[in-house]
Amino acid sequence: MSQSHAPHDPHCIFCKIVQGQIPSTRVLETEHAVALLDIHPVNPGHVLIVTRDHHAHLADVPDSLAAHAASLLPRLCRAIRAATGADGLNVIVNNGRAAGQTIDHVHWHIIPRFDDDSVNWPWPQGQYVGDELAQLQARIATELESDAVGEEG
Ligand code: AMP
Ligand code: ZN
Repeated sequence: MSQSHAPHDPHCIFCKIVQGQIPSTRVLETEHAVALLDIHPVNPGHVLIVTRDHHAHLADVPDSLAAHAASLLPRLCRAIRAATGADGLNVIVNNGRAAGQTIDHVHWHIIPRFDDDSVNWPWPQGQYVGDELAQLQARIATELESDAVGEEG
């Protein structure tokens, strides 16, 4: 699995966790990722998949590592659902402060949800006006063309 920079940040709490310098409650470990219980769960059984290498945001993660982390999701979702009796699950990656990211080391939240829980969801949604939808399609498509599949970093 390729690496575009130093694998660990000495100031990063998740780097310290994956290296075993800070304790964690792990439920699954692979060569490239660790799944552990979030210490402040939205609901009990809230799990984080944390990459072993330090990458701040999902946009920085090599495709192969993102694919590996995502490959763990179905099995973890089944296990968390069975272990907690959850009625549903949210899988979320927060990227950047504006999106609620507080630890700048990429991680996937798997959050058990219950029909009667008090979690504030769904979030408010808007509507496109005029040609805004088509304009955004064109702008994103142009960006994708200049960022070839498989290109990392
Ligand atoms: P985010 O806000 O998306 O960056 O999520 C960071 C998550 O890490 C939060 O849900 C925290 O509760 C969780 N967290 C912080 N410190 C620890 C820790 N030492 N062990 C497990 N989870 C942690
Ligand atoms: Zn880190």
